[in-house]
Amino acid sequence: MREIAVLSVASEIFPLIKTGGLADVVGALPAALTHEQVAVSTLLPGYPTVMAKLETAEPARDYANLFGGAARVLAGRAAKLDLFVVDAPHLYARPGNPYLDADGKDYADNAERFAALARVGADVAKDGLGPFQPAALHAHDWQAALAPAFLHYDGGRRPPTVVTIHNIAFQGHFYQSTLAALGLPDHAMSIDGVEYFGGIGFLKAGLQFADKITTVSPTYAEEILTPEFGMALDGLLRKRAKDVVGIVNGVDEAIWNPARDPAIPQPFNALRLDLRSRNKDALQRRLKIAESPEAPLFGVISRLTSQKGLDLVVDVVPFLVEQGAQLALLGSGDKSLEAAFTLAAAEHPARVGCQLGYDETLAHLIQAGSDFLLVPSRFEPCGLTQLCALRYGAPPIVSRVGGLADTVIDANAAALTAGVATGLQFSPPTAPALRHAVERALALYGNPRALRRTRLNGLRADVSWRSSAKQYADLYRSLLEDASP
Ligand code: ADP
Repeated sequence: MREIAVLSVASEIFPLIKTGGLADVVGALPAALTHEQVAVSTLLPGYPTVMAKLETAEPARDYANLFGGAARVLAGRAAKLDLFVVDAPHLYARPGNPYLDADGKDYADNAERFAALARVGADVAKDGLGPFQPAALHAHDWQAALAPAFLHYDGGRRPPTVVTIHNIAFQGHFYQSTLAALGLPDHAMSIDGVEYFGGIGFLKAGLQFADKITTVSPTYAEEILTPEFGMALDGLLRKRAKDVVGIVNGVDEAIWNPARDPAIPQPFNALRLDLRSRNKDALQRRLKIAESPEAPLFGVISRLTSQKGLDLVVDVVPFLVEQGAQLALLGSGDKSLEAAFTLAAAEHPARVGCQLGYDETLAHLIQAGSDFLLVPSRFEPCGLTQLCALRYGAPPIVSRVGGLADTVIDANAAALTAGVATGLQFSPPTAPALRHAVERALALYGNPRALRRTRLNGLRADVSWRSSAKQYADLYRSLLEDASP
């Protein structure tokens, strides 16, 4: 099989910069794709943390003026990743969150900041960069999605393009007045161009011009074709339905491996599942809740937003407490949810442990120490926490949407009899339905044989990138075949 080079363009990559699952996917795919003879280099913005973590960096291209200032593209490496970094201090040299200022507001120049990323992506796709000559461009989410549009309006030869939707709720919608500043021609402002509800839609543009559109699970690929989940892009997606593909995410098995995880006090595997309880002890101590081995412990690791359905968990806390269960929550986001969980922890200090903020180490401990992981999302493109939970023996309790529906096998009577269950599903995403799922989980908890079987099934489920990486590689190669004369 001939090796091909792919330019991946994204605004986040683990472990350099991460606000969510996008970074995990962009960070894990390159290693998985090397087994498919695909060499990925990733182009990303030169945020301060990225610049600081570069292990090597060579100037590879200069821009006298990239959206208002001089810039360079650096070719470098970090954390075993091949990178191109847009070193544009006027756009990216701001500490903290990549998208928000210190007050939590979107930066006023986000249109220019991410048009610059896409512009450089389009240039590298067309011209290559030194020895790097990409056979395809793969743009992730709205921040990179203008790249196929630039290639379209530039004209001339271009490699095939793929846009991946990690979450259609984030679309990059800006005022029409930025059109000229973004370097797009006047005629781009049309329904067949970048126009979107009277403004400019970055994700819309990507969906309009990419050769293929992928999203991160087969069920989400169907859901986004409907008005209920398509967030106003369903019409365009239905027109492009034959080019929309769902490829489920995996997890990085080197980072999420309970047998060799430096972040947990007691490593374990399927043969020594009994050791897992020491992590539960450690988690109870860490969150200062009652150190009781018998209490069923429900974990949450999440952005606290309406998407993630954590308000349903708030509603179910009294029931959990009444049942003698415990809750271990790690998350940050909406102030009202943060306040609600802080209050719950104050009211039930022995039962509810809550840490606000972002904490990789605690996330691993919650996976390794909880008895179940709650993921009650209203919509979920793929979801990664439930995949980690499977691998860490914490059967996930998930709402039956998107990737959650695709990756968890509900412990109904048939699945338990067949010995194939890996977790619990519920629908619709409402508090009563979640409460019923918790009741079912408590019943499972009271049946040690069925619980152990469910945990082991999860541990042995394939949540790796192997088969998904092959699907991406096949997709790139099919595009190259279509493009060759
Ligand atoms: P999303 O990308 O929508 O936030 P995913 O489940 O796809 O949701 O990915 C979330 C990723 O971020 C997972 O790797 C999860 O462990 C991690 N994560 C979320 N919140 C936190 C947090 N507060 N601390 C540490 N890791 C977190």
